[in-house]
Amino acid sequence: MDGNLYAAFEARFPADRARHFIEFADGALHCTYGDLDAVTARYARLLRDLGVRAGDRVVAQTEKSPEALMLYLACLRAGAVYVPLNTAYRPAEVDYFLSDSKPRVAVCDPDAHAALLPLAAKAGVAHLLTLGADGAGTFAELARALEPSFPTTACARNDLAAILYTSGTTGRSKGAMLTHGNLASNALTLHRIWGFAPGDVLLHALPIYHTHGLFVACNCVLLNGSTMIFLPKFDGAEVARLLGRATVFMGVPTYYTRLLSLPRFGRDACRTMRLFISGSAPLLEDTFREFEARTGHTILERYGMTEAGMITSNPLIGARIAGSVGPPLPGVEARIADETGRELEAGKVGVLEIKGPNVFKGYWCNAEKTREEFRADGYFITGDVARIDAKGYVSIVGRAKDLIISGGLNVYPKEIELALDALDGVAESAVIGLPHADFGEAVAGVVAVKPGATPSSEAMIAALKETMAAFKVPKVMFFVDDLPRNAMGKVQKNVLRERYKATFSR
Ligand code: AMP
Repeated sequence: MDGNLYAAFEARFPADRARHFIEFADGALHCTYGDLDAVTARYARLLRDLGVRAGDRVVAQTEKSPEALMLYLACLRAGAVYVPLNTAYRPAEVDYFLSDSKPRVAVCDPDAHAALLPLAAKAGVAHLLTLGADGAGTFAELARALEPSFPTTACARNDLAAILYTSGTTGRSKGAMLTHGNLASNALTLHRIWGFAPGDVLLHALPIYHTHGLFVACNCVLLNGSTMIFLPKFDGAEVARLLGRATVFMGVPTYYTRLLSLPRFGRDACRTMRLFISGSAPLLEDTFREFEARTGHTILERYGMTEAGMITSNPLIGARIAGSVGPPLPGVEARIADETGRELEAGKVGVLEIKGPNVFKGYWCNAEKTREEFRADGYFITGDVARIDAKGYVSIVGRAKDLIISGGLNVYPKEIELALDALDGVAESAVIGLPHADFGEAVAGVVAVKPGATPSSEAMIAALKETMAAFKVPKVMFFVDDLPRNAMGKVQKNVLRERYKATFSR
């Protein structure tokens, strides 16, 4: 059987190929399913002409555009391995990704071409071509003259479809190898459990170099054979305006807080919507409740990661619980274990381990790291600290690496963050461990303050001491306007740890 993900999409494309796949914000038609078929065929043909064979890598550091998405689909059709890179990476970082993934072809923004050329040559990249935000560039030009037909390469489910470098909030990026089977199983499950149906329109504001915007959002739409409105990037006012043409929206929590900061945002803007989905970072309970009060919609929170696509989801029908990421997806097994992999009793906090058809094949050229992160019985160690309740709902308590050990006692930052977030004047918070001669690590709180609030460290520390053991309470507090976040909205605790590391050595 053909395991190519593109074949699964193609089987579900609308019979009428004049139906819209992508629309622009201004309502102008950009691309029909017929265009998708023709453009991806030309691109796949060009990849072949450039010598790309099944299993060869194609690196893309391209601005978000329909053409950039077509390049992903063309790689699937050609059996090539698509390697998208965050557009924010500087040449020195791209250097690492090129030399690690060793692509036959790399495609970059026209403005980056001169800087990347020597790096591509050094990494042995045969062709460095360009594709701009407007869809123009040497890649598109070379493809234009080619025949718009291409027989999609048959492949096994276990063949690689993509390598995604993990977002690297901590440590050096590793390339997660995702197979056609990983992506297909996850997309088919999400398409079903989130109730995608003909007529759904997805408003797409996420970047397309990450699992969330690329696989979760686009693959669901492709399996649905329906339309998405494609925005180059998230803009609160623009999203609020366009929701009236959409039925589904996917965002990181920051998108939701930005929508809520618009004074007139409410039910009227969401009148055509059936589903709001959030993920990639924890959704604050406050945001969940305020969104419900303002719009009448309960945000559906799901949890996943580069290495496994989506892992859990709150239900479409049934209780969506604030602060929980829902039960494991159908076909995904999850357990809570201690650091040796021994399963803990129900309700205990520990590291979440998972197994299922969505779990990646391993890290590219890094057998040692792969071995370290899998148990002998095939479970993948997510590194997230979690709890599973009696109903099977998972709550993420923090990252294993976030865990603070102060005076030999474990402190889970999430617990203290929730307590801080509940105090007056706190917009949000991050709790970190700082080097401390006596305790090993000392708990520190970093608080983003609400406009106009005048916080006091002493008062906050005193308030926390009333409800929790003293060893968990921050020894020091810092007040900031905003917490530093990466492109996916995750708080960069490593930046905070670096910024405040000398606090106790003075
Ligand atoms: P990435 O590989 O960049 O998608 O990052 C994956 C990590 O993001 C996970 O391991 C979690 O730590 C975090 N994450 C994703 N979704 C959620 C969520 N809904 N709640 C809390 N953390 C999340």
